[in-house]
Amino acid sequence: MHYPETKLPKVGTTIFSVMSQLAAEHKAVNLSQGFPDFDGPEMIRERVTHYMQSGANQYAPFVGVPPLRQAIADKVARLYGAQVNADTDVTVTSGASEAIYAAISATVRQGDEVIVFDPCYDCYEPAIELNGGICRHVALDLPEFRINWQALEDAITPRTRMIIVNAPHNPSGVSLTREELDKLATLIRDTHILLLGDEVYEHIVFDGQPHNSLLTHEELAKRSFVISSFGKTYHITGWKIGYCVAPKELSAELRKVHQYIAFCTPTPMQLAIADYMNAHPEYENELPAFYQEKRDIFCREIQNSRFDFSPSQGTYFQLADYSQISDLDDVSFARWLTTEAGVAAIPVSVFCEKPSAEMKLVRFCFAKNEDTLKQAGELLCRL
Ligand code: PMP
Ligand code: GLN
Repeated sequence: MHYPETKLPKVGTTIFSVMSQLAAEHKAVNLSQGFPDFDGPEMIRERVTHYMQSGANQYAPFVGVPPLRQAIADKVARLYGAQVNADTDVTVTSGASEAIYAAISATVRQGDEVIVFDPCYDCYEPAIELNGGICRHVALDLPEFRINWQALEDAITPRTRMIIVNAPHNPSGVSLTREELDKLATLIRDTHILLLGDEVYEHIVFDGQPHNSLLTHEELAKRSFVISSFGKTYHITGWKIGYCVAPKELSAELRKVHQYIAFCTPTPMQLAIADYMNAHPEYENELPAFYQEKRDIFCREIQNSRFDFSPSQGTYFQLADYSQISDLDDVSFARWLTTEAGVAAIPVSVFCEKPSAEMKLVRFCFAKNEDTLKQAGELLCRL
């Protein structure tokens, strides 16, 4: 028996699984993989139990249950001023991951180029390559993690099918400004380039900044798949529910793929989230303060350490430069930190096609209880 050659020669097990496993083996405080160590709102959990106990246990409509699609449409109208049709423009998916895979599979053909910004979340490139596309990495300008417009313009060719924009950005926390959205619009105005907006951290932005969703920009929204995740918003990463908002023509294509990847997502979870969204429209407005407090606790805890950082502007991640602590490369440092210092983190170079040797950054997840953050801070200050 000859097994087929791998279709993904560059891919191994994700850094998130690797680091979480290492953290468990060494009983390290796990600030690596991004997930909260606390539960989501009690009402969501009560509602899901209610729906499971009252017979909502069969397939949902493949595009999502109507009340959840309507709640999503209402939310984007309220927050972004976007008028989207719940029937044709909103699709509920098995996490943002599935929506990203479906959007890419539905539109990227053999030889198409897709531009991503490095450091870049890890699920884009495999999806592009499995569909015969070519991933073009454009490095963000460090240390601000902003788009290098000349590099982006240079990367655009007649074969560019899509640009993937992740804002707020994992791992840096940086958001796009209104001016940057306008600049992007000008750059691609006379092309047929699609946008994929990975906005899973849309409700986690700090210091009073707005989240400038692609949905706030009428011109860009017409060519965008805007993807989000209830996992991040409601502290329920294990439920794997997300959604995509896109014009009906793009949604129709995404749905063709979605119906054969997952068909639909779990019914009781969808109904529970819809109930919660309708009962608590204020929730998204309160989430920034909730996470800003955690950011502030973590930053205060490591203030006297030898890590160098500026407070994250969004997401639940904090980057930190360790060059005063170690000369190790970041992958080795993250392993050492986990096994020897008792705190697990994610190295940033794994999100870059061509990481610079000087980049000595690790990412900490601060979606944790105060005790966890204090325990980690104490260990990090010993270094
Ligand atoms: N995009 C980014 C930038 C993420 O950080 C995550 C997080 N896990 C995802 C997509 C995937 O989200 P989900 O867990 O809903 O699939
Ligand atoms: N998005 C999460 C992170 O950045 C990880 C999700 C996963 O493990 N697939 O840490």
